[in-house]
Amino acid sequence: MHEGLNLVGGEWRPAADGRTFRRHDPAELGEIVGEFPESSAADVGAAVDAAVEGAAQWAAASPEKRADVLEAAARWLEERADPLVVELVREEGKTRAEAAMEVSRTPRNLRFYAGEAHRITGQSHPAGDGGIVYTRREPVGVVGAITPWNFPLNIPSRKIGPALAAGNAVVFKPSPVTPLLAQRLVEALLAGGLPPGAISLVHGGAEAGAALAADERVGAVTFTGSTRAGRAVHAAVGPSRRAQLEMGGKNPVVVLDDADLERATQIIVKGAFGLSGQACTGTSRVIAHDAVHDELLERVARAAEALTVGNGLGDGVDLGPLAADFQLEKFLDYVRIGEEEGAELVTGGRRLPGDGYFVRPAVFGAVAPDMRIAREEIFGPVLAFQRASGFDEAVALANGTDYGLSAGIVTRDTGRALEFARRSVSGLVKVNQPTSGMAMTVPFGGLKESSTQTFKEQAGPSMMLFYTQEKSVYISPR
Ligand code: NAD
Repeated sequence: MHEGLNLVGGEWRPAADGRTFRRHDPAELGEIVGEFPESSAADVGAAVDAAVEGAAQWAAASPEKRADVLEAAARWLEERADPLVVELVREEGKTRAEAAMEVSRTPRNLRFYAGEAHRITGQSHPAGDGGIVYTRREPVGVVGAITPWNFPLNIPSRKIGPALAAGNAVVFKPSPVTPLLAQRLVEALLAGGLPPGAISLVHGGAEAGAALAADERVGAVTFTGSTRAGRAVHAAVGPSRRAQLEMGGKNPVVVLDDADLERATQIIVKGAFGLSGQACTGTSRVIAHDAVHDELLERVARAAEALTVGNGLGDGVDLGPLAADFQLEKFLDYVRIGEEEGAELVTGGRRLPGDGYFVRPAVFGAVAPDMRIAREEIFGPVLAFQRASGFDEAVALANGTDYGLSAGIVTRDTGRALEFARRSVSGLVKVNQPTSGMAMTVPFGGLKESSTQTFKEQAGPSMMLFYTQEKSVYISPR
């Protein structure tokens, strides 16, 4: 069993009051992955003290030095890819293939942001008196990073990478579901030469996250997680500091009457049941044209039944366990809600016997737009089929939730696809691709209740703006 600690000002230490929590393997509930500090506001306060002190040193580091650290951290992770994949499977419940994808992606993110360290520039403007006005982009100071469990390396790397590239100190509060992988990312940065004052790690749950968001010395809070927690973070940050929020989704795939149904089935099954349905951009609704609805539902249900569920370390496993007890409860609750609301459970929806949070993916037919399973984020392998009589109705149904993260369409008609892209109220639109999955070189973020929409992650122009603040300097010749 791993004995985890917080990192504060370069010192690994337990919570001040000694509280801890344990994380177990969701595929083998008797296997304890590790024990970690359950941090309180006092621990967060100490971490912010250390970050305030460490921020000046890191802000003074050259862009080359910042980039070198991120590059070296990337190499450290790559050299340990195999054990990291196993740890990720055991801690979160991914399959080996899903874990390998994440472990390979994270160093690439760090390299991408290492490049950004060199690209922080300002503007210059001529002034009437022969002088000049120029702008400086300076680090914000202390960045708080609060992250979910479903990509415990990848999502933090998309926050800590650019924050450090810009010269900020970071206080990192990872999910209590995946504390070990969070610690590995911090170890990589330290091994890469990051001064310990530039990164603090505070384990724990909502209590620690709320304390971090509320600390006025934290100039910018970057959060990914549920819309409910995101709203609390946003309220705590207030108008004088900045928040970047990426939150929940209820992502639809529209399938038109001209679609290749075999291809549509592959796209839907991958989007809905990849990561055991626990991707923010995962598909949770299919809106099928009347002409193809019944055949598509049948094909998707058969494909779902053919998926192999098991321990992600096993060969040929398509779906690992759900990540935690609360995920299992939510899955079973929503299956029950769907049945009570009158939707037709076509397949799955039950827990599998055995020592782990294993379930058969659920496919519902006859789902009406006002049912909770059509509107609320479930974040598990539950797919709701809705029927549309034409394109306009399909677009309206697709847009008919409070969320706006990712939306897909399967069609051979490019004109319709482009029209869907224009009319879709979502931050990502996928044509003939699963709703999940995105490139690190492309802006990422949702609309409506899925995001604050102010600063996108990944490669949009606002990505580094979030981690820097702009100052205008006026100079006259005398
Ligand atoms: P969560 O909201 O429960 O927790 C996310 C993080 O916030 C955790 O570190 C948690 O400890 C912390 N937290 C919880 N309550 C808090 C509070 N009041 N104040 C401050 N911090 C608080 O989410 P989760 O279960 O870890 O992750 C699943 C959710 O994340 C889903 O809703 C999913 O859609 C979303 N998600 C979104 C994206 C995206 O990019 N849009 C990506 C991955 C996951």
